[in-house]
Amino acid sequence: MESIATRIAAVRERIAAAARRAGRSPDEITLVGVTKTHPPDVIAAAVAAGLRDLGENRVQEAERKIPALAPRSAITWHLIGHLQTNKARRAATLFDMVHSVDSTRLAVALDRHVAERTRETRDTRHEMHAAESPVSSLQSPVSSLSSPLLPVLLQVNLSGEATKEGFELAGWEERPELCDAFFADVERILTLPGLAVRGLMTIAPWGGGAEAARPTFRAARRLRYELGRRFPAADWSALSMGMTDDFEIAIEEGATIVRVGRAIFGERQ
Ligand SMILES: *Cc1c(COP(=O)(O)O)cnc(C)c1O
Repeated sequence: MESIATRIAAVRERIAAAARRAGRSPDEITLVGVTKTHPPDVIAAAVAAGLRDLGENRVQEAERKIPALAPRSAITWHLIGHLQTNKARRAATLFDMVHSVDSTRLAVALDRHVAERTRETRDTRHEMHAAESPVSSLQSPVSSLSSPLLPVLLQVNLSGEATKEGFELAGWEERPELCDAFFADVERILTLPGLAVRGLMTIAPWGGGAEAARPTFRAARRLRYELGRRFPAADWSALSMGMTDDFEIAIEEGATIVRVGRAIFGERQ
């Protein structure tokens, strides 16, 4: 098997090529390496190869792995999987960004725990400054360590698959009742002082090949445009979409964050 460094370089090259095809700059796109099921030593190899944004989809698994991967300031951790409200406190202290906010109830729960997170982050930073020099030049643009707010994305289900989490918005352009419900939720979430909404996250339908994902990605981009029109004071710049099988299509359709697991780490156990 190729080394992890080689695989990361190959993924970055494909990201850059897809961006150029779409007339975009590769710098607009953040690569999140999805490390679920992989042990800390494998993840450490990816960090050594320059990967700075990592994604996990379960709080319990992340709790075992994140502390094993110090220094904390060198990595931006993204929660990309469904989060139960009763784990919001743990998620808010572990992760730098949550992609999977899929209900107002969860947003409210996260918001309630952001003050604790700010305190813990400050303590951790203090310890790190005492122990070693900071690596701020390596920090990702979405890193939140300098901000007291928790950056979040609203996860939207645009494919209508019952198994997908997210605000239900399949066919939203023809369904004003779905839109009205969602926009009411957004209005409420934007008032939460601890959260910094940054945009949307979506997952394409399973199967059908990369091209089959394009309509879903396009719908996400159009929805983001509509949100920008309705809520112009908020930040809708991030669009987290695209995985190993479809990240190039996602970039052509406007993704600013791609979440790639297998193309970097191989098949999951
Ligand atoms: C596992 C996972 C990924 C990565 O999937 P790959 O196909 O391995 O690239 C991306 N996003 C989410 C939400 C995931 O759960």
